[in-house]
Amino acid sequence: MKTEINRNTLELITGDITEQETDAIVNAANGSLLGGGGVDGAIHRAAGKELLEACKEVRQEQLAGEKLSTGEAVITNGYNLPANYVIHTVGPVWNERDQHQEDLLVNCYRNSLELAMTHNATSIAFPSISTGVYRFSVELAANIALQTITDFLTDHDLGNVVMVLFSENDYATYETSLRKIQR
Ligand code: ADP
Repeated sequence: MKTEINRNTLELITGDITEQETDAIVNAANGSLLGGGGVDGAIHRAAGKELLEACKEVRQEQLAGEKLSTGEAVITNGYNLPANYVIHTVGPVWNERDQHQEDLLVNCYRNSLELAMTHNATSIAFPSISTGVYRFSVELAANIALQTITDFLTDHDLGNVVMVLFSENDYATYETSLRKIQR
């Protein structure tokens, strides 16, 4: 499914984010930036060892050795990936008693889009942040992701945004959400 917003496009696809030829891809990282499972592991495997070295450098030079906070984003090169850049953002862990987690997921998308624009990227691909090990419902995460991207594209000329869903089920949930947002 593909839709136009302002002069931008927002596209939903099923696929593997490591194969995307967008200028930037987004990694659902953990705060350590040292790699992990899920999409994070796949991106590090496909990008090669240099990505881990770049992440360590970011931690030392931009974060004074500390972890990257939830909702924040940093950028590295893409090394062996087709994408030029990897934007690493830390999704919130789902907690039904804490509504603030939803705001933090908004921040992940907004901060990643802003970072892409400051690096003149005109295309960016996102995975479904926080819906794996971090346990957000896909429905809630889809609403947050697609509303935040839509709001951003209404106000900015970025180019193409692609949501890369890893299963047909996730794709169907995102498609239903996008149709609702567009009404
Ligand atoms: P989080 O810790 O933010 O929940 P996960 O990596 O556990 O991150 O999962 C986030 C989403 O990424 C899940 O929907 C998972 O199925 C999906 N995913 C895993 N590998 C890939 C991949 N190679 N490309 C795109 N999406 C992926």
